[in-house]
Amino acid sequence: MSLTDLHLSIDQRVVAIRAEAPDWLCAKGCANCCRRLAEVPQLTEAEWALLHEGLAALSTEHLALIAQRMQALAQQTTRPLTCPMLDEATNACPVYLQRPVVCRSYGFYARRDGGLYCSEIEAQVAAGLHATVVWGNHEAVERELAGMGEVRPLTEWFARWQGEADGGGFPC
Ligand code: SF4
Ligand code: SF4
Repeated sequence: MSLTDLHLSIDQRVVAIRAEAPDWLCAKGCANCCRRLAEVPQLTEAEWALLHEGLAALSTEHLALIAQRMQALAQQTTRPLTCPMLDEATNACPVYLQRPVVCRSYGFYARRDGGLYCSEIEAQVAAGLHATVVWGNHEAVERELAGMGEVRPLTEWFARWQGEADGGGFPC
């Protein structure tokens, strides 16, 4: 399956869940998960190639700000982490169309062996809401991602790109 096909598959599950539960918590304006990353996201080569397109289209000033945040993120030892791309003033994602797979599936997919990804939705489920919603299978997503090239931390992909551009780059 290509990355585009995986996106379409996830979009279909998202649409189905929203149709069944119009009040589904995961919607525009909520960026709590973008502020509570457990670790630096790991991206496949295919995901990075797409994200790179989005980043490259940003203004020089915006990209410089993200580069500062990437560098800080690579050195941060405390957790959780905030995504260096999040616009903290508006809760918007500046690379929404090019965002990684986990950003698309989070809030709609769960591992079959237990545990939902979003603690806020998990709390709703624990309270008895959304009992009939069919979650996406995150293990299936992970199997598809496994065929999409090498995996590196976001900060490392970014540093390599910046290093190619200016001969430098920050250590990860
Ligand atoms: S996954 Fe949870 S925290 Fe993230 S946007 Fe959806 S509801 Fe908000
Ligand atoms: S890439 Fe966008 S959607 Fe994903 S964590 Fe960062 S700001 Fe949030």
